Amino acid sequence: MALNLIMLGPPGAGKGTQAERLAREHRIPKISTGDMLRAAVQDGTEIGRRAQAIMDRGELVSDDVMIGIVSDRLARPDAACGFILDGFPRTVAQATALDAIMDGRDPLIVVEIVVPEPELVRRLSTRMICESCGRTADIPPRGGIRPGDPGQAGDRCAFCGGKLVQRTDDSDVVVRERLRVYRMNTKPLVDFYRNRETFRSVNGAQAPDQVAAELAAEIAAARNARVGGRL
Ligand SMILES: [Zn+2]
Repeated sequence: MALNLIMLGPPGAGKGTQAERLAREHRIPKISTGDMLRAAVQDGTEIGRRAQAIMDRGELVSDDVMIGIVSDRLARPDAACGFILDGFPRTVAQATALDAIMDGRDPLIVVEIVVPEPELVRRLSTRMICESCGRTADIPPRGGIRPGDPGQAGDRCAFCGGKLVQRTDDSDVVVRERLRVYRMNTKPLVDFYRNRETFRSVNGAQAPDQVAAELAAEIAAARNARVGGRL
């Protein structure tokens, strides 16, 4: 049974770290919206050219175009055994279209990583970013050195050896605003998925290893619930 996973979680919840880890363990691709857009533009597909034209005008790529790109991407052979979607769906319209794309495939499992706001503010306000490559310090490189470590000023980037500095957009006010926007946009999505037996919540206010363990248990339970429901 393929593992078709959507991960929801606010900035600072550790979603990227956990998604990378799951992708490695299950040998399935982690598919982010940004990467897909860049690839479609680079490959010069018809949908890629449409996306390029929209971005050239400084506009946001519409649901239609984004859904087309995701649909193409999920049809590739490497996604046949599963995938982890990061950054999609963002709207209920996208989630509805994704259900249609998934028709005839194994069920979607949706996991929300929940972290109380004060903890998120604390994490985001102290988050370090690499001056050279722009990666945040708490995303582990492949092979996994220092997973979840927010890093300190003066530390070196585990990817490229660049200098870690505090993210400039992570002041308290900016952080709270980002979280408010996230909540506003994500609540309808969570409501859309919440009543499914394949929807799960995980406590993200723990050490990364504990989050990973809870995540693994919830994913297994969601897959079993679905298999049981079919018999
Ligand atoms: Zn770096």
